[in-house]
Parts: sequence; C-alpha cells; structure tokens
Amino acid sequence: MAFKIFGLSDPLVKGILATGYTAPTEIQSQAIPIAIEGHDIIGCAQTGTGKTAAFVLPILNRLSHETSKNKLTKALIVTPTRELAVQIEKSILRYGRFLHLHTLAIYGGVNINSQLGKLRRGVDIVVATPGRLMDHIQRGTINLKHIEVLVLDEADRMFDMGFINDVQKIISFLPKGRQTMLFSATMSPQVKALTEGVLKSPKMIQVGPQSKPIDTITQRIYPVHKELKTDLLLYMLKNNHMYSVLVFSRTKHGADKINRRLSKADIVSTAIHSNKTQSQRQRALDGFKAGKYQVLVATDIAARGIDVTGITHVINYDVPCFAEDYVHRIGRTGRAEAIGEAITFVSPDEAKYLRGIEKFIERKLSPEKCEGFSYARSEPINPQQHQKQPHSGNKEHRPARQQQRANQSASARAGHNDSTPEQKQHFSGGRNRKNRSRKNFSRRR
Ligand code: AMP
Repeated sequence: MAFKIFGLSDPLVKGILATGYTAPTEIQSQAIPIAIEGHDIIGCAQTGTGKTAAFVLPILNRLSHETSKNKLTKALIVTPTRELAVQIEKSILRYGRFLHLHTLAIYGGVNINSQLGKLRRGVDIVVATPGRLMDHIQRGTINLKHIEVLVLDEADRMFDMGFINDVQKIISFLPKGRQTMLFSATMSPQVKALTEGVLKSPKMIQVGPQSKPIDTITQRIYPVHKELKTDLLLYMLKNNHMYSVLVFSRTKHGADKINRRLSKADIVSTAIHSNKTQSQRQRALDGFKAGKYQVLVATDIAARGIDVTGITHVINYDVPCFAEDYVHRIGRTGRAEAIGEAITFVSPDEAKYLRGIEKFIERKLSPEKCEGFSYARSEPINPQQHQKQPHSGNKEHRPARQQQRANQSASARAGHNDSTPEQKQHFSGGRNRKNRSRKNFSRRR
C-alpha cells in the first residue's frame, strides 16, 4: 500500500518518498486515516514502529491545506525528552520539506532567546518538552489559543518523569475543540485516567501485542557477578561483531564509570545522561549516529529519544528495575523491522528484576554463557586458546547474521531494490560503521 492512498497532499507525499518511505508501517496504516478524519486517538504502540509519522503526517496534511498567511501555532506536540523533541522536529522537516511550514522544538537546557525570537516571528508547529513549554506559557511568550491538534507523545514516560502536572496545566491553556492524539508504549492505569479527562470519544489503536518487544530483536541473558560485568562487556566488545552498541546504566555515575573503563581499554565510546549539557548530549548522539563511537553509554532518561538506525546491540549493563524500561531500552535496536540484539547482564541480586521483566513480556528468557570468557576471576587465561577460538557468546546466531549481511551486500551489488533508501542506509550502515569505527580505532592506537 502506498502513502497516496490516504489522500495526503501531493507535496507531502513527495516529502515522504524523498525520506525513503515507500509503504506505511502498521501503526501508520491504522492511525493516518482516522487522524485525517479528525478523530481523537489513543495509540498504543511499541517503540520503533513508526509512530512519529503516524501523528506527524496528518498534522502536516491538515496544515498544508491552510491558506492563511498568519503564522499562528496550530499544532502542539508534547514529548518527555529534549532528544525526542529534536528528533520529532527533524522528522517534520524531512516529511514536510516541500511544504512552507515553520516548526520549532522548544526544550530546556539551552538559551531561551533564540526560541523567543522564532516564536515572535511565528511558527505553525511547536514540539515541546513540558518544563520549557510551561516556562514560555508563564512568560506569555507562546500563544496556544489557536491550537487545532495536540499530540501527547510517550505519555507513560511523562508520568514516570513526573511531568504529568505540567502536562495537565498545559492542556488547560488549549482550546476545547481541538483534536487530541495520545501515544504510549504501555497503558498504565494512570495513562488511562489521563485519557478519560483529555480525549473525546477516542479511537483506540494498538499495534502488536501490548508491551512485547518487537520480534526482530534477539534477547539474550548473561548471568554474571557484578564485579565481572565490566570485564564481560569489554570481552564482548572486543571479540564479537559489535559495531554500534548502546550500553545502558541505571545511574549517571555508573554511565560515566563504564565510559571511562571502555576508553581506558581503547574502545571508542561516549556517554550521555542528564548531568551533561544539551550540547554535550547532542554532540555525543551525533557522533554515535555518524559512526564516530562504537559505544554510547546512556541512562534510561537520556536514551529515551534515541533513534539511531543501525544500532546492532543494546547491552543492559544493569537490569532495569522497571520492566517497562527494559522494553524501551531494547526497542532502541531492531527499529523499523531491522534486526537487532539485546543483551542483559544479570547479577544474582538482580534476578528479581529479571523475573518482573519476564512476567511483563510474557516470555521466559534462557540464561546463556559467553563462550571463551573467564568467569572465575582467579582462573588463569590461556592466551593460545583465546587466539585459536574466535569466541562468541552467540555462536549459533553469528553465521546467520553474517549470512544475512552477505546476502544484503550481494543484493545491493546486484541493484535489488526491495528496500527503501533508509533501509539500504541501515544495512550498509553496519558496514560503514565498521569501516569508520576501524578507522577511528586505529587512529587511537
Ligand atoms: P519511530 O517509531 O517513529 O521512532 O520510527 C522508528 C524508525 O522507523 C525511524 O527511523 C523512522 O525513520 C523509521 N520509519 C518510520 N516510518 C517508516 C516507513 N513507513 N518506512 C520505513 N521506515 C520508517
């Protein structure tokens, strides 16, 4: 099915095709027609399903038909993190490249002045984090009286991050006759309660079984003592084919510590967490996207908005205490139906969190051992044995992945055109990353 079938405006369809999307994802197929009709929507979708375009395209379509020359803000998208706000703004700019609309992401951690200037000149679409948006409302520097569409993105996370009071205040400044779309990866009782007060006769959309990680992600569990986790991480990074790895740490301090240990071991890595400035976070993220770093170490909150095509592995250095976080973390790989691998290190005191995750995803995860890694600290390592065996914690899996890569390369060489430009970039991303990473690594050596 092509995007044209939705009756989207021609310049918008052109923008979607130029982005490299040829067919809508499931959530897009479900949500776009309903949203175009003006209905309120509750979208319950796993991460990486293409939900941004599901709410952005109907907004762009609506605004592309407007002829008014006044730059009034007609659409507001509220999202929990700065990274998500930047990412949604970028998506709007990509899909709407042939439309003459102005979009602005407003978020904290950066100087407010440039946002003030742009708001004064007029913007059609605002993408905002709750705190900075409240700041603008209190200063009287944003006019929300003409909002026609409100999107609440990642509603569950807004609760987790304590933004819900701000969100409710923001909603009280909006016109009652607006269209509202709420998206959430999980439907907690709190999110349900919010939807009751804020949406009018919403249509419910659920893509895939609720809260189950997407099928393209291989999940692996490695039981290991706490004090061996860094060694195991280093071992895997050096011995397995891991080109673009997102490592999760529960704490900011932990993220910095892991990053330092990796750098000491000549692994090119960087870290993001909420103690870093916005420009440091953006630099780290851009560098990771460009393949400059093999590893990005992140905390849950900082990683929330990460959408990097080509993340080959997510490693949970700590088991997340909340099962929802596990789903969000591993959803950073295997995006838009690409393959990905999620590895979780579980120390004995974390077994209880793992049980919670298994219950949540309704699946038992079998423990595995990383072949070739010395679990006993005192055990002498036989270097010859290490050289002979190109060790892998995923021996069965690797040939399949290598075969898949080989097939993809062969297909690309033969000019097969099944995949979208973005998918192609994704597939070649692994190789490019590998080459770029190698180049960078050798520079360090
Ligand atoms: P999202 O869930 O919106 O964060 O999207 C996840 C990833 O899927 C992003 O990298 C999007 O660019 C990509 N994506 C979204 N829609 C499509 C589509 N129709 N075809 C191909 N890729 C898509």
